[in-house]
Amino acid sequence: MKNDKITSKDVDFAKWYTDIVTAAKLVSYSEVKGCNIILPNGYAIWEEMQKGLDKSFKSTGHKNVYMPLLIPESLLNKESELVSGFAPEVAWVTHGGDKELEEKLCIRPTSETLFSDYYSKVVKSYRDLPLKYNQWCNVLRWEKETRPFLRGREFLWQEGHTVHENSIEAEKETRDILEIYKKFFTDYLAIPVITGRKTEKEKFAGAEYTLTVEALMYNGVCLQSATSHYFGQKFSKSYDIKFLNRENNYEYAYQTSWGTTTRMIGAVIMVHADDLGLVLPPNIAPTKVCIIPIGTDEKVSSVTTTISEKLAKENISYMVDDSDKTPGFKFAESEVNGIPVRIEIGKRDLENNTITMVRRDTLEHISVSLDEDIMALINKLLLDIQRNLYNKAKSRMESMTFEAKTIEDFKNIINTQPGFIKSSWCGKRECEDKIKEINGIKSRCILENEELTSSKCPVCGEEAKEEVVWGIQY
Ligand SMILES: [Zn+2]
Repeated sequence: MKNDKITSKDVDFAKWYTDIVTAAKLVSYSEVKGCNIILPNGYAIWEEMQKGLDKSFKSTGHKNVYMPLLIPESLLNKESELVSGFAPEVAWVTHGGDKELEEKLCIRPTSETLFSDYYSKVVKSYRDLPLKYNQWCNVLRWEKETRPFLRGREFLWQEGHTVHENSIEAEKETRDILEIYKKFFTDYLAIPVITGRKTEKEKFAGAEYTLTVEALMYNGVCLQSATSHYFGQKFSKSYDIKFLNRENNYEYAYQTSWGTTTRMIGAVIMVHADDLGLVLPPNIAPTKVCIIPIGTDEKVSSVTTTISEKLAKENISYMVDDSDKTPGFKFAESEVNGIPVRIEIGKRDLENNTITMVRRDTLEHISVSLDEDIMALINKLLLDIQRNLYNKAKSRMESMTFEAKTIEDFKNIINTQPGFIKSSWCGKRECEDKIKEINGIKSRCILENEELTSSKCPVCGEEAKEEVVWGIQY
């Protein structure tokens, strides 16, 4: 049934997105623009994401820490590229009570400075390395345009910061983390992605290079979803992170940083949700099964109890909606909230010894005999839904991946159906800037080990050196 609180996504995608965020009770707005209240439904999804990623980080030797919120101005200023990259978005604390501070304190937009300053104090010898730290925290960036989960002033994220004794180890770390993100997007979020290296223009301020995970949303707009940066010795020179290497010489350390944010929730919405509400991949759904008993019949409640107990025993998260709302209202609510499997237990079905299961991804109603192995069916259904969501997103991504050999091709694609646009490139900044003049198309990433679409750059006609994916971004 159509949900009248949700605009159709084919009519107005932007409105649809904010309708979903509100209808599924993920976020509420606060008095400060871009600083949203993440409600229980939204925060529970974030916790599932944290759990999945945190497990991967820890199993690869990373440890969680917590750095302070405030950064002294002098410390921030030590890395000039980072400062100029973030300067327009930094918020400052200038007063303590009514007394003006001697030195302004910046509210962290990211924590490279704090980690680097700390590392400079504790890293003395190669024996102290590597240090592989991660923190889950909030950051603040004074953005002008804000949208829930996609671009906020305050948002939640994780930022990993590691320090190594040589470039081989640090570069391996940068790549290993990219693989962790890629696997998480594929296996948990059911979102297919492309990965590659950012161009010089688009890389993180202060990095030698940035690797990125890029996803394509339902409307063909691209979302930078996670990044992993290799710093080489850039920060260690600015912050004086020196150690005695194995040859007993002083050397600057090699660093990485990497992060992903609550923006992943936005990606899940824009890839999987429909006009009825959220559609959550089972692997990150805080509640996997919603049981709706219909009526107060004794048999109804005993079957409800039996199934609940089995779900608890199997460790499958579930809820029972036994509120006094109408069944129709409860069905719609479980759909808005994106719960993967709904079980309807009604008197009439039970007379035939059956219950009804409804899968959220296809809305298919399945009549199930109580003599069947219900738990095996639910487990299979959850796997099916997870796989189906990924496959659907993957074929959509493939159908929205285009090739451009000329500027005209770029224009035609972007005016017909935006998506990932693959094109070869000479590597010059001027040509990248020229392509941006077409509806703000930006380079997403340089693909690695990929054949060139064309031997010539579509802008200048000179020899193409790299294969790049382009697109419009959030
Ligand atoms: Zn060119």
